[in-house]
Amino acid sequence: GHAHRAGRRLDDHPHGDLPRWQAALEALPAVATGADPDRQAPRLGEPAPDAQRLRECLMALHPWRKGPLELGGVRIDSEWRSDLKWARVAPHVDLQGRRVLDIGCGNGYFGLRMLGAGAELVVGVDPTLLFVMQHLACRHFSGELPSYVLPLGVEDLPAGPAGFDCVFSMGVLYHRRDPLEHLRRIHGLLKESGSTLVLETLVLPQNRRGDLLVPDGRYARMRNVWAIPGTERLRGWVEDAGFRNVEVVDETPTTPAEQRNTEWMRFESLEQALDPKDGSKTIEGLPAPIRAIVIARR
Ligand code: SAH
Repeated sequence: GHAHRAGRRLDDHPHGDLPRWQAALEALPAVATGADPDRQAPRLGEPAPDAQRLRECLMALHPWRKGPLELGGVRIDSEWRSDLKWARVAPHVDLQGRRVLDIGCGNGYFGLRMLGAGAELVVGVDPTLLFVMQHLACRHFSGELPSYVLPLGVEDLPAGPAGFDCVFSMGVLYHRRDPLEHLRRIHGLLKESGSTLVLETLVLPQNRRGDLLVPDGRYARMRNVWAIPGTERLRGWVEDAGFRNVEVVDETPTTPAEQRNTEWMRFESLEQALDPKDGSKTIEGLPAPIRAIVIARR
């Protein structure tokens, strides 16, 4: 089963930092658990008596990319204001009583927000072990919640049928070498009828709706961006994967107000990836990032 696959993945790909991360988790203070997930910064656990020590434990899990979060009373100001993305997505999807799969879920920030919106179960998958460790830190404070982060990639999931009511794929499609295959897989993981895809991904500006940009080299300093479609091209992919009622419900440029370095993410961020003289371009001279949200039905 999946537990076995996840265990095998850990055994086959041991990470050099894993012992240090495990030590940080073990050093987390015992506090009363609890969760108030329906907030911009979900609040997990009662405040720890020694905030400075807790801060140091959590800093050992740097970089914190997704958040904000409040763990044991310590506020984690992550690289991303993920609450801004959630505010764009949430009005377009009804999660009441739904079973959700979140592909490329990071530390599970959105899983908490989904529970806040009434989801019954959230299964998140992400192959980056640090983010799984961050999720375990969250779980230390929240106690048991029906939102999980498994150390798996989308390619480790069964081809289906899995019967999810809703599958999220946010910030992942442009990292996939074969985006159409990614969408077809998601189609297979959804319940046969009445289920929903929530796709969030990079797109080209509106005057390039039918185009496809295949960066030859980096895009906004990222090495692993394979292709960025215009919204009409993207809609075509989603339809070709078998979805219907495909709607582009939001297009928003990503700015350094939403993605920036903080003390919880001390590496370079978006500001250093944009042309300093022209914010509409990346430092490679390509169109600056715009993200679209697409909702579609199976
Ligand atoms: N969904 C979050 C995170 C996006 S960042 C958001 O929208 O903010 C992209 C995430 O995809 C990273 O956490 C990365 O670890 C994960 N990822 C990379 N390869 C993956 C794969 N093969 N399957 C699933 N997730 C993957």
